[in-house]
Amino acid sequence: PRIDELLAAGTTFSFEFFPPQTDAGERKLRDTLNELEPLGPSFVSVTYGAGGSTRERTHQIVVDMLERTTMTPMAHLTAVCHTRDELAAILARYRDAGVQNLLALRGDAPRDVAPFWELERAVDLVELAREVGGGQFAVGVAAHPEGHPASHDLTDDRRHLATKLAAADFGVTQFFFTVEDYLDMVEQLAGLGCDTPVVPGVMPVTNLRQIERFAELSGAVFPADLARRLHAVEDRPDEVARIGTEVATELCQRLLDAGAPGLHFYTLNSSTATREIYANLGLPVAG
Ligand code: FAD
Repeated sequence: PRIDELLAAGTTFSFEFFPPQTDAGERKLRDTLNELEPLGPSFVSVTYGAGGSTRERTHQIVVDMLERTTMTPMAHLTAVCHTRDELAAILARYRDAGVQNLLALRGDAPRDVAPFWELERAVDLVELAREVGGGQFAVGVAAHPEGHPASHDLTDDRRHLATKLAAADFGVTQFFFTVEDYLDMVEQLAGLGCDTPVVPGVMPVTNLRQIERFAELSGAVFPADLARRLHAVEDRPDEVARIGTEVATELCQRLLDAGAPGLHFYTLNSSTATREIYANLGLPVAG
């Protein structure tokens, strides 16, 4: 099914994965998918290595999900370092494979490669997906509750986001730790006349150093009190993960209570935190 239809029918629960680079990573992803499939996610998404570094792997994992699992996949695609023709070819291949859901992204400059963009904004890729998909694709876009890290003006950023969401079918956010950041964004978008559903992205802290690096890269503010709590137990990984899961559960509950259209979990290809949060929230698990 299409994600816009799923969102119209009720709250969605979705999981994000990245294409592994090693055989061990592939085994781990396979195990994780087997462990998470019984949770019956509304959809699952697979990231794209900017510049095309995972072009084949993203395609392969998405099509395998479609053909060999009960899960509905969403393929991420980034415009950076691709010509318009290349992007059209990638989209046509998804269309022909029967994939219905895409996340259209601008993408950042990959390491060690001079970047170029023929499609300069994510919204241009949304339009290309419409052209190639002829109505088959539900197209999502990225939203940054705290503003895009390269943006200097939150008001401008919100205006661009509203325009982009008007062209798309749904949004998915970067992770964040403060529920107000998400709710403020939704309110500001509504003020701009935009009511496209935007699903909040949740990243449970399971590894302190990793999350601090991600937060730095993504521009998400890592709250000082949470950092203090986690640093106090940093030599006890189990305790870091326990607190991280507890904090993420609270965030999820507050988002659901506030009427968020769904929850999108950044799994980092591991099932533990997502399964625990699911159980904490009392969400149903099959089998
Ligand atoms: P855009 O929507 O094009 O916006 C980028 C910036 O340009 C913003 O600051 C915006 O305000 C500004 N802007 C937009 N339109 C205009 C305009 N008309 N004039 C002036 N300024 C404008 N990266 C990957 O490489 N692979 C992935 O799989 C991936 N998945 C992601 C999933 C999610 C949910 C999120 C939140 C991000 C993901 N990213 C991924 C990262 C993303 O590629 C980067 O955040 C990138 O820097 C911006 O992409 P965008 O699609 O938001 O860009």
